[in-house]
Amino acid sequence: MTERVFDPELLSRCISCGFCLPACPTYAATGDEASSPRGRINLMRALQNGDLDPYDPTLTEQASQCLGCRACEPVCPAGVEYGQLLEQWRDHQWKGRRRPLTARALMLVTRLREVFRVMGAVRRLPGAVLRKARRPRAPSTGNPVGVATPEASLMLGCFEQVLFPEVSRAARQLVPGIAAPTGQGCCGALHAHNGDTAAGERLAHRLGEDLPGIIVTTSGGCAAHLASVLGRDRVKEISELLAERGETDEPTTPAGEVRVDGRRARVTLQDSCHLRNGLGVWKEPRTLLGRVADYVELPSAAGCCGAAGTYALLRPRESRRILDAKIREIEAAGVDYVVAVNPGCLRQLQTGLRRARSRVKAVHMAELLTQATDDTHH
Ligand code: SF4
Ligand code: SF4
Repeated sequence: MTERVFDPELLSRCISCGFCLPACPTYAATGDEASSPRGRINLMRALQNGDLDPYDPTLTEQASQCLGCRACEPVCPAGVEYGQLLEQWRDHQWKGRRRPLTARALMLVTRLREVFRVMGAVRRLPGAVLRKARRPRAPSTGNPVGVATPEASLMLGCFEQVLFPEVSRAARQLVPGIAAPTGQGCCGALHAHNGDTAAGERLAHRLGEDLPGIIVTTSGGCAAHLASVLGRDRVKEISELLAERGETDEPTTPAGEVRVDGRRARVTLQDSCHLRNGLGVWKEPRTLLGRVADYVELPSAAGCCGAAGTYALLRPRESRRILDAKIREIEAAGVDYVVAVNPGCLRQLQTGLRRARSRVKAVHMAELLTQATDDTHH
């Protein structure tokens, strides 16, 4: 028996039925039991029981080859929380210097952002003002869409702020009056998925303190991580918020439709694995997209696009194989837009489409919905 790596209750739940095998992309690619959820859980048990050396090459390989897409969770009759087990596994396997260099570098970037954020804020503002500024604005009264009750704050997302600031702008346009305080830190999803569970939890708690009320996100990965630390009630991915609002006869989003070459646009959705498999949110974005455009379902919409957090950087060859198949499907669907609900997926799809010289555009759902509104008014 080695040190305790896994929560024993979580590890014991698997009954080795194998229902999860057909859902697993790495098993589909390799046909190797060790690359399946059941195989990986058996490896975890061997590690926990001391039957395998902690740094056995198969353990190391499988901890990194798994996408962390959690497609194995919804199909599991025993309710195995595979995502949690994977986090515990990587926490052990990728401790300190054994963590892949790229993952370490990205974590550092989130820390640097923190430093620059504080330095910038301190330079601009005296202390009392700064403290006040860190509190989100109360939602404006008379909000035309009335969604900021109970109090809601938009999470800006550390990578989204750098790579896709237009997504947060679109979200604010869709939810007028929502508080969107600047100077937010990282939610810690990156850390939790890359073997630093403690930092992942610490950062999520801090963000939870900084953003009162419901935390609204435009990132499926961040939403699932925040919900696992702060509780499901504190977190709403934006499509959930918008879909709820549409059912209560509030003025709904979106109005109008997205048009391309004088006709209604054809759009498809790439699910965010964590949003779909972790939080069970998949109908809402489809409903919203179907209101503004002709919705086309991709056969593999629920399957990972290969972005998988840092996976595209850590395992570029495997990631590319998954992405290339996805791009071929998108092309065959004859759509104008492929829509993402997570910044990592958006970046991955844009890369694949650019490489294939495709005319299809990858956009975030919030942006496309805003476009529908704009098209109506112009
Ligand atoms: S993880 Fe779930 S579906 Fe897969 S073998 Fe274990 S019990 Fe069966
Ligand atoms: S998280 Fe995804 S890649 Fe990993 S075992 Fe589950 S289905 Fe397979």
